[in-house]
Amino acid sequence: MTRKVPIIAVASAPGKAGVGVIRISGSELKSFASSLLQKPLAPRQASLQSLRDGHNNIIDQLLAIYFEAPASFTGEDVLELQCHGGPQLLELVMKRCLEVGKEIDLCIAEPGEFTLRAYLNNKMDLAQAEAVADLIDAQSEAAVRSAARSLQGAFSDDINALVEEITQLRILVESTLDFPEEEIEFLENAQAKERLQKVISRLAHLRANAKQGKILRDGIQLVLVGAPNVGKSSLLNRLAGEEVAIVTPIAGTTRDRVKESITINGVPIHIIDTAGLRDTQDEVEAKGIERSWDAIRTADLVVYLKDAANAGKESAKDTKLKAEIIAALPPKCPILEVHNKADLLPANAFAASETLKISAKTGDGVEGLKNRILEIAGWSAPQEGGILARRRHLDCLDRAMEHIEKSEQFAANGNNSLELFAEELHLAQDELGKITGKLLPDDLLGKIFSQFCIGK
Ligand code: GDP
Ligand code: ZN
Repeated sequence: MTRKVPIIAVASAPGKAGVGVIRISGSELKSFASSLLQKPLAPRQASLQSLRDGHNNIIDQLLAIYFEAPASFTGEDVLELQCHGGPQLLELVMKRCLEVGKEIDLCIAEPGEFTLRAYLNNKMDLAQAEAVADLIDAQSEAAVRSAARSLQGAFSDDINALVEEITQLRILVESTLDFPEEEIEFLENAQAKERLQKVISRLAHLRANAKQGKILRDGIQLVLVGAPNVGKSSLLNRLAGEEVAIVTPIAGTTRDRVKESITINGVPIHIIDTAGLRDTQDEVEAKGIERSWDAIRTADLVVYLKDAANAGKESAKDTKLKAEIIAALPPKCPILEVHNKADLLPANAFAASETLKISAKTGDGVEGLKNRILEIAGWSAPQEGGILARRRHLDCLDRAMEHIEKSEQFAANGNNSLELFAEELHLAQDELGKITGKLLPDDLLGKIFSQFCIGK
């Protein structure tokens, strides 16, 4: 994973474009650069160069910029070539670079390898490196802004500040351990409990922010369920604003699940329209139904749609289906009951009950439903200072919280548990360190960077 050879890749997107960028990074690229290009390169200055092949035929006129180590993205020498953006042309330039680079063992970069080097050379920590990929993948303006803040180090700074506070507390506790007879008094004087409370509230705050950041990055998987013909496909179409699912009055039309991603207030919502969940002899339909159950088992939120005309009465079949759905949901996944076809009700019935009433046909109530979806999924309006976060980060924060809570119990037990108190603080610190990459096993590192695109 952590090879030392110089690497090269096309850094710009595939396809035709005005400009195509090739990036080369290595510990010593000066002689390579002067063999490749005709004119000398001054660090951090763009120069117009002509690139020639082995027979001295011109390949392209390009702009070259040389970044001398350590003042570069990767922390190594970096040569950036801004060529004309044709795929064939870029291939020729790559070929020429690899020819000239033979003597320095120039290799094609693996996905994320440039950023991995930036991380290994302490140009950024792991949370920032992940933010590079998230910035590129960002699906909404809010996600871009949050990823940019994480890349600038906003998330890492919060983590580091928290680690520092825990360190202070640990120093306090551990130094007390040497003087057992004075332990309690000492800790009281040093306000250990107050400090621990401060750590807890900071961690809780960070976790809440990270949760928002995770929603912004990954979006919400929303699964539409309900009996055949209640209007699931119509609602999906209404939300997506176009015809994505086939709507017909024949029950069982939606044979396979249909997936559509939309954004509500910048939050990506991945909606899955499930095939009518019923027993069937049809093989294709049965497959679709099985996949619907898979979607339910990984949902963030389930919308349970009913025909408003049947709202009051629930058939035994419906009750059974609903119970089955609830049993299949992942823990803490909310289920939102919504009554559709409200346009068929008398106008006064519209406001009569607590349950959300909509009409997929006319669009009435759909805006309200969108707001409810965000609310129930735990999304709060993007604030200044939001960050982008991943499942990995949330897991670390959750585990850190568990250790801190245990440490709190040990602290309350007094005297004999102070060692355990300190140990739990230590474990919490380790979890936080995994977010910034200070304590991360190599295999996990490989996994994280392999998800990057090539050239990044
Ligand atoms: P699904 O089986 O749950 O996916 O239901 P569909 O979306 O295929 O809709 C079944 C039938 O109900 C179709 O004829 C739709 O036009 C009709 N329908 C769906 N939503 C509404 C609604 O809000 N009002 C009325 N009047 N009809 C609807
Ligand atoms: Zn359908």
